[in-house]
Amino acid sequence: MIAWWERRTLRFRLAVWYAVGGTLLLTSFTATIYLFVYERMGRPLAYELSRDLEEVRRRVEVLPDHSFRWNGRPVDTHAPWTTEYPWFEFWDEQGKLVGRLWPFAESRVTQPPSAPFRGRETVAIYNVAPDLRLRVYSVPYQVPGRNDVWMIRLMRIHEPTGDALGALRLIIVVALPIVVALLVVGGYVITRRWLKPLDQMVTEANHISAADLSRRLPVGNPHDELGRLASVFNVTLDRLQASFDALDRFVADASHELRTPLTTLRSVGEVGLRRSRTVEEYREIIGSMLEEAQRLQRLIQRLLELAGAEGGAAEVHRSEIRLDEFVAACVGELGILAEARRQQILVQSEPCAVTTDSVLFRQALQNLIDNAIKYSPDRSVIRVRVRNRPDAVEVSVTDEGAGITPENRAHLMERFFRPDRGRGRTSGGFGLGLSITKAYMRVIGGTLEYEPAEPRGSTFRLTLPKG
Ligand code: ADP
Repeated sequence: MIAWWERRTLRFRLAVWYAVGGTLLLTSFTATIYLFVYERMGRPLAYELSRDLEEVRRRVEVLPDHSFRWNGRPVDTHAPWTTEYPWFEFWDEQGKLVGRLWPFAESRVTQPPSAPFRGRETVAIYNVAPDLRLRVYSVPYQVPGRNDVWMIRLMRIHEPTGDALGALRLIIVVALPIVVALLVVGGYVITRRWLKPLDQMVTEANHISAADLSRRLPVGNPHDELGRLASVFNVTLDRLQASFDALDRFVADASHELRTPLTTLRSVGEVGLRRSRTVEEYREIIGSMLEEAQRLQRLIQRLLELAGAEGGAAEVHRSEIRLDEFVAACVGELGILAEARRQQILVQSEPCAVTTDSVLFRQALQNLIDNAIKYSPDRSVIRVRVRNRPDAVEVSVTDEGAGITPENRAHLMERFFRPDRGRGRTSGGFGLGLSITKAYMRVIGGTLEYEPAEPRGSTFRLTLPKG
């Protein structure tokens, strides 16, 4: 049974739960109403009237002069009676009204009940006024302490509660099945409509594969659970696609870039082995092979960094940093490289703080300072400036190097872009530093821009939005 239930569609199960739950709720709700109405007003009026009779017998006292006492106190039969006590009247042996105690003023009653049949117990309904119907219960009454047998009549408002209850019962019996049927049909139709996007998502998801990651799930209503699920799934697919693309590029870049150093390595080895050589010559050959191997290692390291940043593998741990102090520390770390070339790094800072990933940001900034040191002449000045703008913070690195020619600017941040290949190679550059910097900045929500410096040189600017 459980297995059968689990195999049903969500739509079917929802509709069944909806119907069963709705039926139970409605049934208990109507049963409660019925019981409540019955308790309050459903008890037979005759029963109430006979209780009234007992109460009157207990409390009333008829004096010899035909006046009454109620609970031991004299009663004025002309004044309206309270609604709290039973309403009643006495008729003597001659069929004359002795006294009537009810809460209606004379003026309201147009047609008081006529004298009862003597000696008989009767129940009747009287219209005493157009808007007033009374149920009247007449019983012979043996006046205590006398021989007289009077008639006593108890009265209550005639309310057709029995009819009302019957009608209520009919409504429940007829309406409940209709309501339940509507619930079932409505439940099925509604769940079918609401869950339709799920069917579409299943169909679309079936077409997504590693070979075709460009498809996305349809987002019907972005505000409901299914829409949100589809959006989250699509974001995951975006990331997955970015990782796959980065991996593809890594494989392509690696096989392209590794070919030359590997060929160099191989030919140096082959040439070295072509004839026997002195120990000195071997040392030199092995040295240059090791150099090439080291270069290869560095290249692979850089490629991995770039693939990580572009594929979204770089983890982001944000924390608040004092940017002015942070930049001063970064510059301090690279100071030794500048000193070797007798360059001077000047830092100009406005105090400011920003929340970002300090590791990725440091890497980005160090790449720029490293480039400035590499690509500007000895004894030149490098200026690092921290600016606190209302909506963002900026760190710019300006050098006095050759700058970037206008035709090269467009390609500056492309992977493996090196305008001066020969020099880049000796200084160890692969043309990946700016791509990595740009990818890191994108990961932490910032930007990298270039602009030529005056009168010569370059300015690279990192911008991080606040908040
Ligand atoms: P790498 O420095 O490893 O070659 P980058 O991506 O950092 O790679 O730089 C790419 C190219 O852009 C460099 O080879 C260089 O020609 C040029 N470049 C980068 N920074 C500067 C700079 N500050 N001044 C002049 N040219 C630069």
